Amino acid sequence: MSSQIIYLDGNYVPEDEAKVSVFDHGLLYGDGIFEGIRAYNGKIFKCKEHIDRLYRSAELLEFEIDITKEQFIQDVQETVKSSGYKDAYIRITVSVQAYIDLSTPEYTINRVIIILDDDVIPEEKYQKGIHLVEVKRRRTPEAALPMRAKTLNYLNNILALKEAHKNGGDDCVLLNIDGYVSEGSAANIFFVKDGVLTTPHPDAGLLVGITRNTILDLAPSLGLETKESLFGIEELLSADEVFLTGTAYEIMPVRKVYGTDFKAPGDYTAKLMKLYQETVNQ
Ligand code: PLP
Repeated sequence: MSSQIIYLDGNYVPEDEAKVSVFDHGLLYGDGIFEGIRAYNGKIFKCKEHIDRLYRSAELLEFEIDITKEQFIQDVQETVKSSGYKDAYIRITVSVQAYIDLSTPEYTINRVIIILDDDVIPEEKYQKGIHLVEVKRRRTPEAALPMRAKTLNYLNNILALKEAHKNGGDDCVLLNIDGYVSEGSAANIFFVKDGVLTTPHPDAGLLVGITRNTILDLAPSLGLETKESLFGIEELLSADEVFLTGTAYEIMPVRKVYGTDFKAPGDYTAKLMKLYQETVNQ
């Protein structure tokens, strides 16, 4: 098992003492939010952007985090520092502490920061690319849950990934209920065709990834035009290159979507992977 540091409601605690109540609304109902962040060489990548998204997620779930953003950022920085890890995965969980009832007129907030030192994705996947398969599951529609919030309700994503594994893939292409491509099970999707880099528009119902936004910022320096649009699976299958992005994945090349093969990593994907590593290590 990897070593870890846990910061719970303002205190560093060993794993066997890091507990929240059985009445935690995150546990009972998924009423909470989270973030996954990486530190590279002791520096936290896009910390402010992640904390901004965390507070936006809280707003969308209609609860208030009981400390300021500045204080939260400071807590994350200090926890990473005290872990001593140079490269780390930081998992933040914020949940509502209330009682058994669905409504929470009164609540407190549980804040957890976990620092992990492990790197879980095998290098081989980056060299060969992954296989995205078809799944019947559809992305939760925006009318049901705010897709821009990173909430503790990840059943849609978990069931999509289970279905992808059952169908023999590493991950899936999640379509929304209108049939447009939204994202992978827990990563954003991109394709390159004729020098244009395209990713689904947020209106497709997806989590607007921090990595996604970083790629959209970096791509023009490689001569790529960028586009956010609504597109179906056929357009994706006609691409020159496909990849997924996320804090954990970073940039993950895709070698196959359904039955269609792609060069993995494609030429632009390889260049973006290199540029991304330079950027996070700056
Ligand atoms: N989409 C979903 C559903 C995710 O869970 C994640 C990350 O966990 C992403 C996209 C990528 O977001 P980010 O690049 O901010 O990590």
